[in-house]
Amino acid sequence: METDTITAISTPIGEGAISIVRLSGPEAIAIAAELFEGKDLLNVESHTMHYGKIMDPDTKEIAEEVMVSVMRAPKTFTREDIVEINCHGGLVTVNRVLEILLAKGARLAEPGEFTKRAFLHGRIDLSQAEAVMDLIRAKTDKAMSVALKQMDGRLSALIQRLRQELLETVAHVEVNIDYPEYDDVEEMSHEMMREKTKEVHAEIENLLQVAKQGKILREGLATAIIGRPNVGKSSLMNTLVQENKAIVTEVPGTTRDIIEEYVNVRGVPLRLVDTAGIRETEDIVEKIGVERSRKVLKESDLILFVLNNNDEMTEEDVKLFEAVQGLEYIVIINKTDLEKKLDLEKVKQLAEGNPVVTTSLIEEEGVDELETAIATTFFAGEIDTGDLTYVSNVRHIQLLKQSKQALEDAMGSLEMKMPLDIIQIDVTRTWEFLGEIIGDTASDSLIDQLFSQFCLGK
Ligand code: GDP
Ligand code: ZN
Repeated sequence: METDTITAISTPIGEGAISIVRLSGPEAIAIAAELFEGKDLLNVESHTMHYGKIMDPDTKEIAEEVMVSVMRAPKTFTREDIVEINCHGGLVTVNRVLEILLAKGARLAEPGEFTKRAFLHGRIDLSQAEAVMDLIRAKTDKAMSVALKQMDGRLSALIQRLRQELLETVAHVEVNIDYPEYDDVEEMSHEMMREKTKEVHAEIENLLQVAKQGKILREGLATAIIGRPNVGKSSLMNTLVQENKAIVTEVPGTTRDIIEEYVNVRGVPLRLVDTAGIRETEDIVEKIGVERSRKVLKESDLILFVLNNNDEMTEEDVKLFEAVQGLEYIVIINKTDLEKKLDLEKVKQLAEGNPVVTTSLIEEEGVDELETAIATTFFAGEIDTGDLTYVSNVRHIQLLKQSKQALEDAMGSLEMKMPLDIIQIDVTRTWEFLGEIIGDTASDSLIDQLFSQFCLGK
C-alpha cells in the first residue's frame, strides 16, 4: 500500500476565486502544519477548519491567506489523513501553494490517485472507482471522441428525418394549394401543419432534454445547498456524502490537476465541489441581495433549499424563495423530529410546484425521499444512458434551440390561423436551422429540394 503523501490542486469548475489544494497521506498534516501560521495543526481536532496563512519558506513572506481543513484517518475519503487548503487568491497563488507543498516533500498526485487510494483502502468499491475513472477518461480520452462520432452519426440521421418530415409537410401544403381538390384546403393544410410541427417540436425538445442529461452525466450536477444558519445544511451535506460515498476525482488539465467531488445519488452525479462548507450558502441574500444571489445561484443546476420545521418562516426564508424562483430547486423541511412551527401550506405555496421533502437528518428520516426527488427532478425517474442520442456540441444545442423557437413561432401563427405562406416561413427557418447542424449548405434552397424530391415541376 502506498505510503507517501500526495497533493493536487482542486479548481472547482464554474466556481469563483476559491481553489482547494488537497493533501492525502501520512505526512499530510505534518507538511501543512510546518507551513501554516495559525493554530498548531498537529494538535487540532479532526474534521475542523482553521483560518491562517501559508508562509513561503523562500521569501518568508505570506504566500496566501487560507482556510485549512484537517481530517484524520480513517474517516476520510482516502482513509488517510487529509488536509484541504482553501485558497482565495488567483491561480498564481494557488500554484505557489502547491509548489511549496511539493518542495516540502509531498508528491504531485497522478490522475485518479485519490480515488485509487480510496479504493485500495476499502473506502469505495471497484465499480465506484471505475465509474469515476470512466468519467475522468471520458473527458480526456480518444474513446470519448469516437463515442461522440458514433453519437453524431445517430444525431445526423435523426436530424435528417426531422428535416424530411418538415419538407414533406411543406410540399404537401404546396400541392394542396396548387391543386386544390377541396374548398377547405386551407383548413386541412392548417391541420396537417399543426400536427407535424407539434411532432417535430416534441422531438427537438426531447433532444434538448437529453442533451442536458448528457451534460449532467458527464459533468455532474452543480449543486448548491442554501438556507438560513443552523437549518441543517452541513448535516445534509454530510448525510449525502456518507450515504453515497463521495467520490473525489482529479481530471488532468492542461497545466495541473482538477479535483472534483461527486456524490452519486441514484445514478445522478451531484457535484458538491466543496465539502468544507464553502459550497454551502447561508447569508448569500443578506450579503449581496436577491438579484445578485439569483445570478450566483443560476450557475447551479440544482439547489437544495433547507428550512427548519421547528421555526416559523422568516423574512430571510421568503427572500431565499425569491432568489430561487424559476430555478431548479428542492425544498427540504428539516428537523421534523422537533415541534412543528413551520406552516407547510405556506411553504408549498411559495415552492410553486417544486418538490417539498421533509427530513430529520438527525434521525436519518426522509433521506430516501429526498434522493428520489433529486433523481426524478432531472431524469423523471430513470436514466437510459445506453440508447440516447446525445447532443453535446454547443453549436448544435444552440441551433436546436433556434429550431425549437422557429417551430414555436409557426405554432403560434397556426393558433392564430395566419395564412399558410406566413407559417411556411417559420417552418422553412426550422428546416434551415436543422440543416446547419448537419452541415447542409443553405445554398440548396428549400424550393430546389422540393422540386427535386417531389417532382413538382409541371
Ligand atoms: P447549518 O448551519 O445550516 O449548516 O446547520 P448544521 O447542519 O450545522 O446544523 C445545525 C444544528 O442543527 C446542529 O446542531 C445539528 O446537529 C442540528 N440538526 C441538523 N439536522 C437536525 C434534525 O433533523 N433534527 C434536529 N433536532 N437537529 C438537527
Ligand atoms: Zn453549516
